[in-house]
Amino acid sequence: MLSRGISKVNFKCQRVWSSTGAATTKIYIDGKAVESKSNEWIDLHNPATNEVVTKVPKCTTAEMENAVASAKEAYKSWSRTTPLHRQKIMFKYRSIIENNLKELAKNITTEQGKTLPDAEGDVFRGLQVVDHCCSIPSMLMGETLSNVATDMDIYSYRTPLGVTGGIVPFNFPAMIPLWMFPVSISCGNTCVIKPSERDPGACMMLVEMLTEAGVPPGVVNVIHGTHDAVNFICDHPDIKAVSFVGSDIAGKHVYERACKNGKRVQSNMGAKNHGVVLADANKTKAISQIAGAAFGAAGQRCMALSTVILVGETKNWLPQIKERAQQLKVGYGGDPNVDVGPVISPQSKKRILEIVQSAVDEGATLYLDGRNATVAGYEKGNFIAPTIITDVKPHMRCYKEEIFGPVLVCLTANTLDEAIDIINANPYGNGTALFTSNGASARQFIHQVDCGQVGINVPIPVPLSMFSFTGTRGSFQGDLHFFGKQAIQFYTETKTITAQWSAADASGKGDDAISMPTMR
Ligand code: NAD
Repeated sequence: MLSRGISKVNFKCQRVWSSTGAATTKIYIDGKAVESKSNEWIDLHNPATNEVVTKVPKCTTAEMENAVASAKEAYKSWSRTTPLHRQKIMFKYRSIIENNLKELAKNITTEQGKTLPDAEGDVFRGLQVVDHCCSIPSMLMGETLSNVATDMDIYSYRTPLGVTGGIVPFNFPAMIPLWMFPVSISCGNTCVIKPSERDPGACMMLVEMLTEAGVPPGVVNVIHGTHDAVNFICDHPDIKAVSFVGSDIAGKHVYERACKNGKRVQSNMGAKNHGVVLADANKTKAISQIAGAAFGAAGQRCMALSTVILVGETKNWLPQIKERAQQLKVGYGGDPNVDVGPVISPQSKKRILEIVQSAVDEGATLYLDGRNATVAGYEKGNFIAPTIITDVKPHMRCYKEEIFGPVLVCLTANTLDEAIDIINANPYGNGTALFTSNGASARQFIHQVDCGQVGINVPIPVPLSMFSFTGTRGSFQGDLHFFGKQAIQFYTETKTITAQWSAADASGKGDDAISMPTMR
């Protein structure tokens, strides 16, 4: 069903077919998709087949400079548009995304591998951030206090920063760009964004849709590449703030480098999210939720419930968890019956299998072995079936490292206190979930667990867009989080005005005393 007044546009990724049959991904500068002049290109493979889908350029320095120059020029007029104008554009933009959600999802399944419903969810969760941007006039409102002294008032405005930069991981190729540029530009900034070199297609489509919604050339520009493009964003003096989402190594590097260059930075990084199961939980529901949260999206979610702590007698629930995991169908993400798609690359699969083997070598039990998964018709794909490791101890590699694959790591504890201690000793603080029907246990967990996002009978507690994504400790560096009110603060400065308007001044009869508000 199309929204009124919005045509269904057949958005294609910005590609041209080369003579070899493989497409090239373009860059997006000054409102136009253009072919890169780079002589360095990265092959992007469909994770289900390992066939080359497109070639992604490593942008030249001149191209990246052009992107920033375009954003800087566009800022002059865009920053002066009214919040109401930007709100109108966001309303139109959200309709265009909604009408093309399935096209976007198809691209995500091809480039990233996740199932079509997961890919639609990827777009939908980003769309919710755009929805929130539709209320930008009220979100940008400042504060006021009148009569702080004789004829004197104080009030504040939220003003844009300038050009902002965004660096995106592979696992949510639509949602995470939509955490960044819609909020940035709704606040009056312009943006240079670098999608993951492993699946930039959805970001390209989303930026093209932005132009269709009426955003002028240069307000959002897309560059491609890896380390050099990231360092360029961290170093460029005209980029005032950097939003990063990705792994620990890259996130810490970006935080340090961009901060050293005087930029405002928010960096969302890795995770090890624990689910705690109490004996009074709704057993069938909890088991189903754990299986979905551990193995869905092939475990490649930063909020995947990759670790479970079975408290007391719930260690006897393992056979049912295993049974539920075995019911999940592994295969090509475009097949409507499939639950678990491939992981992103052969290198990623190799790394995951190495961690599984390390668990065996360190004395854990491979309770469900998904290492030899094969999918008929997709024999070259990067498939791993749901895998469960039990008898895990905190010193083991499979517990210490983020696995980022369809692998559930199981620990046991005698009490809720013990489970909370385990979670709080883990360096990450992204998310956690408790399964219980006891309010007192839930309350204890909420108040004692040291993670930024807590679910009670909700396995993946990613907040809605009017809140912020509040991972903590090893999962985040910075002060202000993505989306919600905190993102508005991140993308704006506060300008505070103290003004005295007295009738005596207007008539030239005021006294000549210098006074501060505290003095009278
Ligand atoms: P990644 O760090 O490999 O890539 C992220 C971005 O950084 C990419 O654009 C990439 O080109 C660039 N990059 C990669 N290595 C770099 C380096 N050494 N120096 C500079 N730039 C570099 O991450 P990924 O594999 O694409 O994504 C998976 C990771 O992202 C997981 O750790 C996951 O937990 C994390 N993640 C976190 C959140 C969150 O909100 N906390 C959300 C999604 C993903």
